[in-house]
Amino acid sequence: MTVKNKVIVITGASSGIGEASAKLLAQNGAKVVLGARRENRLQAIVKDIEAAGGRAAYAVTDVTKPAEVKHLVQVAQDQFGGLDVIFNNAGIMPTSPISALHTDEWDQMIDINIKGVLNGVAAVMPIFTAQKRGQIITTSSVAGIKSFTGAGVYGATKFAVRNLMEVIRMESAQEGTNIRTVSLYPAAINTELLHTITDKTSKENMDAFYKQVGIAPSAVANVVNFAVDQPEDVNVNEFTIYPTKQA
Ligand code: NDP
Repeated sequence: MTVKNKVIVITGASSGIGEASAKLLAQNGAKVVLGARRENRLQAIVKDIEAAGGRAAYAVTDVTKPAEVKHLVQVAQDQFGGLDVIFNNAGIMPTSPISALHTDEWDQMIDINIKGVLNGVAAVMPIFTAQKRGQIITTSSVAGIKSFTGAGVYGATKFAVRNLMEVIRMESAQEGTNIRTVSLYPAAINTELLHTITDKTSKENMDAFYKQVGIAPSAVANVVNFAVDQPEDVNVNEFTIYPTKQA
């Protein structure tokens, strides 16, 4: 089974990497179920996909709320009769030096970038375990494999989900449940992500850097599509995606 006809839940699907992935996967015949908080965006994307001949549904979802993530997964099963893949992609990146003590933002990043992914994992694990098949794709970051100043907490959340994906892969292989995991490590991708930065100096530096090197979210969507397209016995499980110009 390739991308065609797979049922794929995507969080953070209202913009950027999630939106680009939803559109590409739907174009290739997947049935995509979009989750995020901004309903007007989700509605517009579903409309675009359907106008292009694709299949899509959405549910307003805050990934910090386990019941809402479960509901999103239920919508996929109800509308499209199953579940093959979850793409845990929702995230925020309010970077700042640790000494600035933006502790509220530390909490938000932990809640969305780590607990949000755990909520996705918890929602699909019973389904994937029972059917002995499933794929969990998670957007970590290059900040999840190396350290960057300003990204102390952001990077910590992305290192955390990297570990989570690898352990799920190993445990599933041991338990014989055939659950595949994919970690994505994108570098500078031009999306709305920088809007989440409130620290003035961090925002100015990041804006300038992204303007110089940033690439389109389709770069990541292409990799997601490639991972979903693999045969069941192949687990392509880690990808870095750099702009060619980024050192
Ligand atoms: P965007 O800001 O365009 O997309 C982020 C998405 O996450 C939006 O759809 C947003 O939707 C959603 N989101 C945020 N908070 C929540 C929440 N509580 N519940 C549900 N959805 C939420 O940025 P990107 O596309 O760049 O970000 C996608 C992922 O890629 C993130 O995990 C980010 O950390 C990661 N990443 C991005 C890089 C980049 O350079 N752009 C580099 C490396 C990793 P809404 O506000 O409607 O809820």
